[in-house]
Amino acid sequence: MAFDFTINSESFEKKVWLSSPTMHGEELEYVTEAYKTNWMSTVGENINQIEASISEKIGCKYSVALSAGTAALHLAMKLAGQDLYGQPKVGHGSLEGHKVFCSDMTFDATVNPVVYEGGEPVFIDTEPDTWNMDPVALEKAFGIYPEVRLVVMAHLYGTPGKIDELKAVCDKHGAMIIEDAAESLGASYKGRQTGVFGKYNCISFNGNKIITGSAGGMLLTDSEEAANKVRKWSTQAREAAPWYQHEELGYNYRMSNVIAGVVRGQIPYLEEHIAQKKAIYERYKEGLKDLPVKMNPYDEANSEPNFWLSCLIIDEDAMCRQVRSENEPLFIPEKGKSCPTEILDAIASINAEGRPIWKPMHMQPIYRLNGFITRSGNGRAMTNAYIDGRSVDVGMDIFNRGLCLPSDNKMTPEQQDRVIEIIHRCFL
Ligand SMILES: *Cc1c(COP(=O)(O)O)cnc(C)c1O
Repeated sequence: MAFDFTINSESFEKKVWLSSPTMHGEELEYVTEAYKTNWMSTVGENINQIEASISEKIGCKYSVALSAGTAALHLAMKLAGQDLYGQPKVGHGSLEGHKVFCSDMTFDATVNPVVYEGGEPVFIDTEPDTWNMDPVALEKAFGIYPEVRLVVMAHLYGTPGKIDELKAVCDKHGAMIIEDAAESLGASYKGRQTGVFGKYNCISFNGNKIITGSAGGMLLTDSEEAANKVRKWSTQAREAAPWYQHEELGYNYRMSNVIAGVVRGQIPYLEEHIAQKKAIYERYKEGLKDLPVKMNPYDEANSEPNFWLSCLIIDEDAMCRQVRSENEPLFIPEKGKSCPTEILDAIASINAEGRPIWKPMHMQPIYRLNGFITRSGNGRAMTNAYIDGRSVDVGMDIFNRGLCLPSDNKMTPEQQDRVIEIIHRCFL
């Protein structure tokens, strides 16, 4: 009997994703062009074009196309480490033995590259106004670890953080910034695009980002020397010689010209995707306004997010009891109240995809021994404990009360209404 795929493919089509790729047609043309001209490797017109157009769009001098945003962050860490601490011995990371201040509530790809280079992430708590690194906690951290010279900050879910305040703290303490703009491509702060505020910055073209190459990322910088180093390191660090000559450690991190073709076809649609995502955000805001919840906040006076993911946070007094172990959630339903676990279950029951907020890094088993600084100082002593059943730091609190809503730009208004309706039912 032949296997019947119809049911599967039908439900696949009807599923409302968190954020899935949205293709337009040109992608295939650029990929086909690469194929027909046989530029199927890591050089070619697609790569040249996307590096030029991203530099122009973002307002940085150099963009280097790489295999992933994580690769871009890794090479950014390597550059920063060499600037700050000199060239390491072979077999040693450039951040070895050094602490690095990092965003706490983010994807772990923001901080893992610090560890690739031998650094020790120290996590900075989150502020409630944009859900990004808290400048007050950062200042506190420099009081506790005055020797730190590097700060890695992400813009969560496409919302720019308090960049001026964070920059002021870093300038005061002579620290360099690496911006992880993987989620915030196209978002701006005071009229400038995210990805220009650090010395070395990164964007991502991962499959669920606002535009995609199916994979890929870029390192952004104004330093020609740094851009050249990244080009060299990402192609196995070959020296100029007739044979394979190596003076430095190399990586296979360059973007393929095929992937670049997909990215090239997507770039003209960035603004359209942002407008669609913004409409989704506004529609949730309107549809949920009678419930005891709020949308993920942003600084309306100074920033324009790309609205990559719409999120909500439940008011404290409307939370039913919810407990999460390392692997499993449990909650007790209560009239008029709800919790992220209940809402995520409800969303899943109508074949839509939500997601918990990124679990803060300081709560992750892998980083349980690393430092964590809140506004009131060392947050570690109290971590994993609740005081009177309440969270003891901002990141943990947002993780406990918040969730990401289905934010796919192909979701129809009718599908979104269904999501809004099912969330209402959770509070009955
Ligand atoms: C997606 C993402 C990355 C990593 O990008 P990849 O291209 O998937 O390697 C890094 N940081 C954040 C915050 C991300 O969301």
